[in-house]
Amino acid sequence: MEEKTNITPTNFIREIIDDDLKTGKHTLIHTRFPPEPNGYLHIGHAKSICLNFGIARDYNGLCNLRFDDTNPEKEDIEYVDSIQEDVKWLGFDWADRMYYASDYFHKLYDFAVQMIKDGNAYVDSSTAQELKDMRGTPTEPGGLSPYRNRSVDENLRLFTEMKEGKYDDGAHVLRAKIDMASPNMHMRDPVVYRIKKATHHNTGDEWCIYPMYDYAHPISDWMEGITHSLCTLEFEIHRPLYDWFLEALNLKNRPRQIEFARLNLTYTVMSKRKLLELVQEGFVSGWDDPRMPTICGLRRRGYTPESIRNFADKVGVAKRDALTDVALLEHAVRDDLNKKAPRVMAVLKPLKVVLTNYPDDLTEEMETVNNPEDESMGSRKIPFTKEIFIEQDDFQEVPEKKFHRLSPGKEVRLKSAYIIKCDEVVKDADGNITELRCSYDPETKSGSGSTRSVKGTIHWVSAKHAVKAEVRLYDRLFTDEDPAGHEEKDFRELINPDSLEILDNCLIEPELAKAKAGDKFQFVRMGYFCVDPLSNDKILVFNRTVGLKDSWAKMKTN
Ligand code: ATP
Ligand code: MG
Repeated sequence: MEEKTNITPTNFIREIIDDDLKTGKHTLIHTRFPPEPNGYLHIGHAKSICLNFGIARDYNGLCNLRFDDTNPEKEDIEYVDSIQEDVKWLGFDWADRMYYASDYFHKLYDFAVQMIKDGNAYVDSSTAQELKDMRGTPTEPGGLSPYRNRSVDENLRLFTEMKEGKYDDGAHVLRAKIDMASPNMHMRDPVVYRIKKATHHNTGDEWCIYPMYDYAHPISDWMEGITHSLCTLEFEIHRPLYDWFLEALNLKNRPRQIEFARLNLTYTVMSKRKLLELVQEGFVSGWDDPRMPTICGLRRRGYTPESIRNFADKVGVAKRDALTDVALLEHAVRDDLNKKAPRVMAVLKPLKVVLTNYPDDLTEEMETVNNPEDESMGSRKIPFTKEIFIEQDDFQEVPEKKFHRLSPGKEVRLKSAYIIKCDEVVKDADGNITELRCSYDPETKSGSGSTRSVKGTIHWVSAKHAVKAEVRLYDRLFTDEDPAGHEEKDFRELINPDSLEILDNCLIEPELAKAKAGDKFQFVRMGYFCVDPLSNDKILVFNRTVGLKDSWAKMKTN
């Protein structure tokens, strides 16, 4: 767990908890994070994780990890493993409290039997269509099922036989007996159990009836001693049902469900189903594609756990849904990497420069600080020679207005080295610039006390020492601010065709040759970059995490 200094600002949920502690309703706060293992976690889940584990941390309470695995067909052990990895990576610890709702299948079954005995549940043998027709509409009450008044004995026999596998999928369901005229459709005798002859990732073929989420969730919460069951707003309308089950079963020390707004991000889709489609249909390379809003995608992109936790704190919790600007997430990682990432020089689109008056065989070691934000990160030496590479964009043959970098007859400073002047532009037969011939001013070595200054400073690498690398630049995956928000347009139509640019001819300073997957750097003037796990002995691959320009900070000051 992270250190205590990082206490999250208060919010309406914390106010409820403070109150419950003050009145003595609870002495120990117990939350849970309940993912369904049917996909990889995304940044929205990270908000829920930070909220639940953050509350447990700040109140010296407990937070469980619980897999909400009542839907065997879509769930998979691959997801169970990835979820654990992601929660841990975010910096949270469930200690020995990792549970599965499927661990409670026996107890859930026994409780269902009790509900039948108490006249609170019945077996309905209607078809799916009949069940649907019976529900009514929000303005008209539903109809009573002809099976609603079956005897307890008949219900018990049928429910037992459902469990024993005597019936096919859909032949019967178990329903709670509540109120078919309730204005809340969820209270109109909701299904509690359905028959599903499917193999479950945890219980195998032991069961062929599975409980519904609305039934399993309050009871799982109660079994684990959860005090505050935090979920997203779409469950608000389910809350009366949550409470009804606990009441019908006469359970004491009940958990309280509290709803908060889910995180939505601009230029992003957040539902697991849509993310799965992006993966399955090949729009991205996998769940961990650095363009994905998944935790594993963000990790591969170069996001740090701290940046995601800080982002979650900044977003806060609200009672109304909103769309959060993705620039806030980018701001959070930039802010964190600014403090942590060593500065290095890398040329993404190289242009050769020959310093005609520099000694042929000389190599100077240029001293440069690793991070001006953090003196303790020290300094290093970079080799400087007669032939260097600069960024193509740092030269303009016919300079635009206010272009203060290199152009014919003009001077620029090479970072941590000398001022150079462009004397000659060399071109090939097609008129492409192949090389610049420049002269350097030996009196202007950085750190030598030289007072001469010029307007622009650019980065460079020594031709003889530079190491080749591949760099992947990412843009937003969607061209639309709210890709899932259009009724007439499928989100796939709004995919940005230029979201990935691969530059395979980059040159980085030799120091970087030993970088390992996950290492993070600021390439000066170019952004923050992270070594991709695809890197091998032959080639280093870098992902651009985020550029240097902070549109969020700019927006705030405007
Ligand atoms: P999705 O809609 O992306 O498929 P889900 O809600 O079905 O997600 P679960 O695995 O059921 O996914 O979610 C686990 C927990 O994370 C739940 O408590 C859920 O409310 C919360 N959660 C899911 N998406 C978000 C989000 N965008 N913002 C905040 N919390 C979320
Ligand atoms: Mg869900």
